[in-house]
Amino acid sequence: MEKIIYADNAATTAMSDAAIEAMGGYFKKIYGNPSSLHTVGQIAKEHLDAARAKVAQCLNCEPNEIYFTSGGSESDNQCIRSAALQGAKKGKKHIISTAFEHHAVLHTLKKLEKEGFEVTYLDVHGNGLITAEEVKAAIRPDTALVTVMYANNEIGTIQPVREIGKVCREAGVPFHTDAVQAVGHIPVDVRADNIDMLSLSAHKFHGPKGVGALYCRRSLPLVTFIEGGAQERGKRAGTENLAGIAGMAAALVEACANLNKNAAHLTALRDKLIKGLLKIPHSRLNGDPKNRLPGNVNMCFEGIEGESLLLLLDQKGICASSGSACTSGSLDPSHVLLALGLPHEVAHGSLRLSLSETNTEEEADYIIAEVPKVVEYLRSISPVWEELEKGIRKHLI
Ligand SMILES: *Cc1c(COP(=O)(O)O)cnc(C)c1O
Repeated sequence: MEKIIYADNAATTAMSDAAIEAMGGYFKKIYGNPSSLHTVGQIAKEHLDAARAKVAQCLNCEPNEIYFTSGGSESDNQCIRSAALQGAKKGKKHIISTAFEHHAVLHTLKKLEKEGFEVTYLDVHGNGLITAEEVKAAIRPDTALVTVMYANNEIGTIQPVREIGKVCREAGVPFHTDAVQAVGHIPVDVRADNIDMLSLSAHKFHGPKGVGALYCRRSLPLVTFIEGGAQERGKRAGTENLAGIAGMAAALVEACANLNKNAAHLTALRDKLIKGLLKIPHSRLNGDPKNRLPGNVNMCFEGIEGESLLLLLDQKGICASSGSACTSGSLDPSHVLLALGLPHEVAHGSLRLSLSETNTEEEADYIIAEVPKVVEYLRSISPVWEELEKGIRKHLI
């Protein structure tokens, strides 16, 4: 097969035509600085406001609750640090999160721990979910923040965000969610979902890279993270990336308008892939089979290395991932799979296929035909597999 099958959309997506078209005007025509008082600047300001209104509408919040950033990582950093600092002012230095957050969240929390905060990392169940009751039980009088991701980037599981938000609201604790994998893919409504702060990133829903947004509920103070000019109501300095912001808004409007149609297509492809790949002996699906993102497939195959699997699949024109793009290149198994309670040996043999609307049934058929061959080949040269076959080691899946 000459064509490349791109099945790594959780790492990043191709830009939509709508996003590219929306951006075109901002390089030579609408190039003003939105802070300038003259006509050219004010036209840019109008476009900035329009983009903000579109993003706000997609999330069901007010435009002045949206702050543009450089992406998901920055939004996570700012939301978490802001809530931590606000909490600390009141003597609250406890944060609740989960063991399987994105590193943008986990590393921010690790740093806060060094700065004197205490973090409770809730255990994730074997199906990749936590419950609102578990969050409730962990809340203390000194809890400054709960941060739980909306949908996991590796295994796609969707957390009970609305219920978690309710528990936090009742306890008066701010609730942040990293919704980078959710926004544009499943319905996200910050009001109905009881969310106080949220992170999103354009390049995960067919927008440009290097631009994102955070939502911060009006009644909640947001601490400035990047000092400088008065952009973003003084909360995030720097001349706005207007082309990127307009591209993001266009991509989001399109994604939200087609949410149900896309989800139906993706869910069918996903379930076909899962069914097909589970026929491989000693394989397992990671994460809840139903409560997961429409386009996410994450499997483990015993006795092989995920990295080798990826390289061989790449030679066959299939671009996939072993999990998080941020940990590839390191030999550690995914922290997400370990959080599910998988043994190291099993977690090593993981494969994530993350689909987009443009993936086809034929592509799924090709993947279902090729993956078993590669797994079989890798097992034929695997000393671990030999030991499993001879009964020297016990099968874990
Ligand atoms: C991609 C991703 C991020 C980081 O977003 P960037 O825009 O690449 O910084 C954060 N959280 C999750 C869940 C992601 O999938």
